Amino acid sequence: MKQLAHLETILINSPRNPGEIKLGRVIAIANQKGGVGKTTTAVNLGASLAAAEQRTLLIDCDPQGNMTTAIGFAKDPTRRTLYHQLVLNEPVDRIILKTQVEGLDIIPSDKNLVGAAVELVSMENREFRLRALVGQLRDSYAFILLDCPPSLDLLTLNALAAADAILVPIQCEYLALEGVSELLDTLMRLRRTINPSLAIEGILLTMYDDRTTLSKQVAADLKSFFGSQVFESIIPRNVRLAEAPSHGKPVMFYDIHSKGAESYIQLAQEVIVNAAKRAGQGAKCAHSGA
Ligand code: ATP
Ligand code: MG
Repeated sequence: MKQLAHLETILINSPRNPGEIKLGRVIAIANQKGGVGKTTTAVNLGASLAAAEQRTLLIDCDPQGNMTTAIGFAKDPTRRTLYHQLVLNEPVDRIILKTQVEGLDIIPSDKNLVGAAVELVSMENREFRLRALVGQLRDSYAFILLDCPPSLDLLTLNALAAADAILVPIQCEYLALEGVSELLDTLMRLRRTINPSLAIEGILLTMYDDRTTLSKQVAADLKSFFGSQVFESIIPRNVRLAEAPSHGKPVMFYDIHSKGAESYIQLAQEVIVNAAKRAGQGAKCAHSGA
């Protein structure tokens, strides 16, 4: 309870919190490389956005189902998942679950979703099934976050076709930059094919260790390469972030005072401020007839 009170103080009194943004922005959290912090970012950014009074939906697009368990749902073979909607066309209101965090819902996943990747191949509009689903839900949420698997399979393509923007977590380690050119190629290809308007929400440095020169070097290189597309918020390597999923909680409900919790709250503020700026620019353009 004490932790929640502390959290409320941080979020509600934040001068940068512009109130709920009604925009249904769809952000795919993706990187073909495994273990870079995609799921950790989806869970903790989602919880931090909801705590800042932005209604948020998490969609677990990964058959590993790590986001589903990390947010507190133990494995249950009878539970309906994204598979039931994408492949069997079940109504979405039978699939969405409320999480323990107020204002945060989830469409869960489990290993059945592997079947979707195969079964979708023969379906019409196979890359656009998730886009159709997201279209039905946009009006109900300020943010929809898609946690992608570490591959470029049909599920990831569905997520990237459905998204307005891609958020790319990059681990601050040796060879981090090697994946970057591959990633940019992928982005270009996606813009030419399934999603011409796909934007970059931001590059997020994860597992940053300020005691090592390597982390500092990788961060500096990424900043000089991507410039302002790199989020100012940096996610440190923090043991609380690694422990929280085994308790089925976002880190802010596990240890609100941890550096990990702080860093994701800060990231959420940055995402909200950017969204508010974009919304303002959109309004200005509409006003001036541009
Ligand atoms: P996959 O590609 O398998 O889906 P991922 O990109 O989703 O992986 P995560 O599952 O978020 O990566 O993180 C990989 C591992 O690193 C997990 O055990 C997670 O708890 C841990 N981890 C993630 N971020 C941090 C961090 N900032 N500090 C410490 N541990 C972290
Ligand atoms: Mg993951």
